[in-house]
Amino acid sequence: MNASVLQTPLTYLKGVGPNRASLLASELGVHSYQDLLHLFPNRYIDKTRYYTISQLQRTNAEVQVVGKIIHLKTVEQKKGKRLVATFADDSGEMELVWFHGQKWIRENLEINTPYVVFGRVQWYSGRFSMPHPEMELLSEHQKGYRVAMQPVYPSTEKLQKKGVTNRVLNRLMQQLFMEHKGRFAETLPPYLLQELRLPGKDEAMFNIHFPKNQALLARAQFRLKFEEFFYIQLQLLLKNRYRKLKIKGHPFEKVGYYFNTFFHEHLPFKLTGAQKKVIREIRADLGSKAQMNRLLQGDVGSGKTIVALMAMLLAVDNGFQACIVAPTEILAIQHYNSIRELLGGIDLSSALLTGSVKKKARNEIHAALEDGSLHILVGTHAVLEDRVQFHNLGLAIIDEQHRFGVAQRSKLWHKNEIPPHILIMTATPIPRTLAMSLYGDLDISVIDELPPGRKAVKTVHRYDTNRLKVFRFLKDEIGKGRQVYVVYPLIQESEALDYKDLMDGYESMAREFPLPNYQISIVHGQMKAEDKDIEMERFAKGQTQIMVATTVIEVGVNIPNASVMVIESAERFGLSQLHQLRGRVGRGAEQSYCILMTGHKLSSEARTRLETMVQTNDGFEIAEVDLRLRGPGDLMGTQQSGVLNLKIADVIKDRDILKTARFHAQQVLKGDPRLSMEKNLPIRVTQAQLSRHKDIWTYIS
Ligand code: ADP
Ligand code: MG
Repeated sequence: MNASVLQTPLTYLKGVGPNRASLLASELGVHSYQDLLHLFPNRYIDKTRYYTISQLQRTNAEVQVVGKIIHLKTVEQKKGKRLVATFADDSGEMELVWFHGQKWIRENLEINTPYVVFGRVQWYSGRFSMPHPEMELLSEHQKGYRVAMQPVYPSTEKLQKKGVTNRVLNRLMQQLFMEHKGRFAETLPPYLLQELRLPGKDEAMFNIHFPKNQALLARAQFRLKFEEFFYIQLQLLLKNRYRKLKIKGHPFEKVGYYFNTFFHEHLPFKLTGAQKKVIREIRADLGSKAQMNRLLQGDVGSGKTIVALMAMLLAVDNGFQACIVAPTEILAIQHYNSIRELLGGIDLSSALLTGSVKKKARNEIHAALEDGSLHILVGTHAVLEDRVQFHNLGLAIIDEQHRFGVAQRSKLWHKNEIPPHILIMTATPIPRTLAMSLYGDLDISVIDELPPGRKAVKTVHRYDTNRLKVFRFLKDEIGKGRQVYVVYPLIQESEALDYKDLMDGYESMAREFPLPNYQISIVHGQMKAEDKDIEMERFAKGQTQIMVATTVIEVGVNIPNASVMVIESAERFGLSQLHQLRGRVGRGAEQSYCILMTGHKLSSEARTRLETMVQTNDGFEIAEVDLRLRGPGDLMGTQQSGVLNLKIADVIKDRDILKTARFHAQQVLKGDPRLSMEKNLPIRVTQAQLSRHKDIWTYIS
C-alpha cells in the first residue's frame, strides 16, 4: 500500500459510517486506514477448539461453543433487569446473560439459528452461564478469513457500549485487508531480513492481525517490534551524530582562574575517582567544538553537585554564563547555598531565581543576566521563562532530569544563538543499556562510586503495631544528637486526605515527642515558600530534631546530621521513590537508618518492594527490580521524554529485541553513515519519511 492510500480517512472503509468513524477517532485515535492497521492486538485468544456444552468445566475459562438460542427472557432483579437466553446444543443447555445493551440484543438476535458464542463461562446457580458473549452467526463464522488465533484489540467501555466490539474491529480489519490486498512497502532491506530471518512486511502485517498459529504470530511480532525499535534507535543515533557534526558549541578552551582557584584552594574533600572521571569527560566535551548534551547519572549522595559546580566554573573561565535548574524551590535554594559555601571567598557573582523572588529583585537579576555581570544563575522552572534572557549562556545544567520533559530541555537550547552546552543530572539509576536506548541522543556519564567513609544505610521494615518500639529507637538516636525525618506519602488525587494523614501524624509525633525536649519541623506542599524555608532552615541548623514532611524532601535535600528516615505507609511508595527518600540519610559519618512503616495488609508487589529495600542499597539493583515490577513508566520519564511512542514493542519485556535493534542500527550507520548505499535504500526512504513525522509508525508502511 502506498502512503497516500494509507492516509485515506476511515469513513471510506465499508462498514464505517460517520458515527463509527468519530467513535474510533475519539476512543482509539484511529482516523485513517493506516491508524487502523497499526492498531495492534493486545493479546490473542486461541479459538482452535469448539466445546460442546457437556464438555464445559467449572474453570472460568474462555471457550467457544456452537448452538442455538431456544428461548429469550427478561429477568427482573434488584438492580435493573437482565436478559437471559437459553442456549442449547445436542449435548445440553446453558445460559447467555446480558446486563446492558438489552434492547439492541433483543432486536438483533435470531432465535433457533446456529451461532458461535465465545466468552468466559461461569457456574451460576447450578448451570453454566456466559455473560456478554461475543456472538456470530455460524454461517458468517464460516466465511471470511478463519482465524485460529483471535486477536483482541484495544478497546474502551464506550466502544463496547456502542457496539463496536472486538468482532467489529476484527471485521473492519478483514475488510481493509481484502480491499487492499494487504500489500505494504517493505521498510527493511533484504540483507537485514535475511540476516535476522525476519518475515517480510506483508507477511508480518497479515500475521499480526490474522495469525494462523503461535509460530507465525511470534515471527510477525518479532519483525514489527524489531522494526519499531530499529527506527527509533536509528533516529537517535542520527540525531546524536548530526549534533556533533553540525551544531556548533562554544569551545571552552581555557581552564582558568576560577576553576584552578577552586580546585587548588577550595576543594573541601578529595574527589572520588568516579567524580574525576566524569569531570574529565565533561571537560573533553566542553573543550571540543561540538555542543555537549550529556546525561550524568549518579546515585543519591554520589556527589553530583560539585561536578556541576566545576563545569560551571569552566564556563565562567571562558567568559560565559552558566545556570543550574532544579525541580523544586527547596532544592534550588539548597544548590544555591551549597554553591555559595563551596565557592567561599572566590569573587564570582551568583543569584537565585525562583517563583517567589519579588519583582524588584527579579528585575535586578534579569538586568544582570542581560548585561553579563551575573555569572551563575541557580533556580527553578522560573529560569526557563521567556522573560529570562542571558548575555551569553554557555552551560545549562538540569538537576534530577526525570522531572523535566523534552520541551523544557529545548527551551534551554534556545536561550542562546549557539545553544549552550547541556548537562542533565539524574539520581535515577537506569540500567546502562536501557539508558543508552532511551536517551540515545545523549552521551552518558556515570558516577558509580560513593564518597569514602559512607556507611550503608540499615533498612528495616516495621509494622504499625510496633510503633512504640520505633519511637523508643528514635528517642535513643535523638539522644545521641541525631536528627530524624518522618515522611508521609502524597498522592495528588487525594491531597486533602494526605494532608489529614500528615497532620494526624504530626500531632501524634508532637504528643510522643513533647516540647521543650523536642522540637519538630513540618514541611508540606500547601505551605508558603517562605514558611517552608524557615522550617527547612531550622532543621538544617539543628534547632529541630524531627522533620515531619511529605515527599517534598524526596530529591536532593542534604542534611548530613539527619541519620534516621522513617517512611510512613511505605507500601504506597514506588521503589525508586523509596530509594530516593532513603538517600536523604547516610550522608554523614554516623550509622544511618531507614525504617519502613506499614500495616499488615500488603500486596505481594508491595512486599517485594519492601524486601528489596531491606536487602540492598544499590540503586542499579533497585532499578532492575523496579523495572521488572512496573515497567519503565515514570521511573525514567518515558512519558515525558516523548521519544518512545511505542505501538507494539515494550521497552522492558522486549529489551533483547531493543538491544538487537540498536546494534543493527549502529552497524548500518557505521558502514553507511549517510545511508547512501543502494542496499540501504529502504532504510533511507523510511527514515526520511519518519523524520518528518513524530510517530514512528506514521509512515513506515
Ligand atoms: P548528589 O549526587 O545526591 O547530588 P551531593 O552532591 O549532594 O550528592 O553530595 C552528597 C554529599 O557528599 C554532600 O554532603 C557532599 O559535600 C559530599 N561529597 C561529595 N563528594 C564528596 C567526596 N568526594 N568526598 C567526600 N564527600 C563528598
Ligand atoms: Mg543532588
